[in-house]
Amino acid sequence: MKAAVKIIEVLQQAGHVAYLAGGCVRDRLLGLVPEDYDVATDARPGQVRDLFRNTQFVGEAFGVVLVRLMQAQVEVATFRTEWGYTDKRRPDGVTFSDAEHDAQRRDFTINGLFEDPLTGQIVDYVAGQADLQSGLLRAIGDPDQRFNEDYLRLLRAVRFAARFGFEIETTTARAIRNQGRYLGQISRERIGQEVQKMLMQPPAKRLSALQWMQQLRLDGPTLHEDPLDVPLPTVEKLSGQADMPTCLSAWMIDRHARSGQDLITWMSNGATRTQTQWRKALSLSNEDRNAVSQILGIICRVLDWSALGVAGQKRLLSETYWPGAYHLIEALKSVAAIERLWPALEQEIPLLQAQGVNPDPWVRGEHLLAMGLTPGPAFGDWLDAVYDAQLNGTVCDAAEALDWIGQRIRAES
Ligand code: ATP
Ligand code: MG
Repeated sequence: MKAAVKIIEVLQQAGHVAYLAGGCVRDRLLGLVPEDYDVATDARPGQVRDLFRNTQFVGEAFGVVLVRLMQAQVEVATFRTEWGYTDKRRPDGVTFSDAEHDAQRRDFTINGLFEDPLTGQIVDYVAGQADLQSGLLRAIGDPDQRFNEDYLRLLRAVRFAARFGFEIETTTARAIRNQGRYLGQISRERIGQEVQKMLMQPPAKRLSALQWMQQLRLDGPTLHEDPLDVPLPTVEKLSGQADMPTCLSAWMIDRHARSGQDLITWMSNGATRTQTQWRKALSLSNEDRNAVSQILGIICRVLDWSALGVAGQKRLLSETYWPGAYHLIEALKSVAAIERLWPALEQEIPLLQAQGVNPDPWVRGEHLLAMGLTPGPAFGDWLDAVYDAQLNGTVCDAAEALDWIGQRIRAES
């Protein structure tokens, strides 16, 4: 904030108009602390560069200069008008202009405000303050046209409405419903990033975002599925500590497999196909798609909890993605398939964890080699068997473990 104010002061002293702009003004008026501060000015990029020592052109075509000052980096953008959106993604061109036109090119009225931090004056060309006060998200100008320029705004609308607990103004909401089907014209990366931002909010907000997604029928084009306005009890019950892939898995379950029987059928039948579809639709990273698949895989194995035996249960609890999976299990505990397991899970998991779920193995490869075994396929099986014996408590220390596996091997050869 200090750096941005200093930059504005320097620009104004040089005779320019300069304001705080966009998200930071909105956040300040809402009494929130902004994550970053953007400056907008009538100074041209070259003039900005000449006024500060440490600058870098970051979006030359758009007139954005990064100014480094007082250990901070501030984006200083020249007021601009954007025109032509033939690729539905970015404007064909920009013309440097004034604050009023710069406000008009922004997406929502609450994002179109300026503030002069030196006088405290709010500069409002789009009636954004009134909407902030009444809690309304409204497109600037003609909503159909604004969404048509850049379909990402459809998802941004949902994210902002959920984040601030705002209503979406009627004609804006109608335009979103009408234009949603064109969402696929923007890149899957942009869609995925926006959905991930929705999910990385606190629980009530991410729930609200997903409810908006379904109500406004953006779910279908976002996920490559038929639109489906279903209740979201799993997402609703999910802990605030759950990470993005866990939230995504919860949404998947609510849309595909909420009833107890569905869960079992879907896990063995449809889950893989749904995952492939969502991965493509949201352009998920390898890491995230692996996480979703591991988390759902753990849920699937939990359904057979008692058949796993102590060793199998401990192996499950030591999986990398167990913490996320456990949040999901907790959220599913009133679903029939999990409900009948829940008392056992709740009681046994802490006991298993107290015993240690992944102790160092007492018998390792070198021990088997010393017994004269040659490395081969059976080798790993023997190691697994003796580690299971250790986890199960069949053997109580290293000496017993060596003895136990030695006898097994002799009996088989
Ligand atoms: P956040 O706190 O999530 O960063 P923000 O409002 O700062 O919210 P940004 O994506 O950082 O959002 O964009 C900064 C500003 O640029 C917005 O407030 C808005 O005025 C404008 N803007 C950003 N993306 C678009 C877009 N796709 N269409 C129109 N205006 C946009
Ligand atoms: Mg921002």
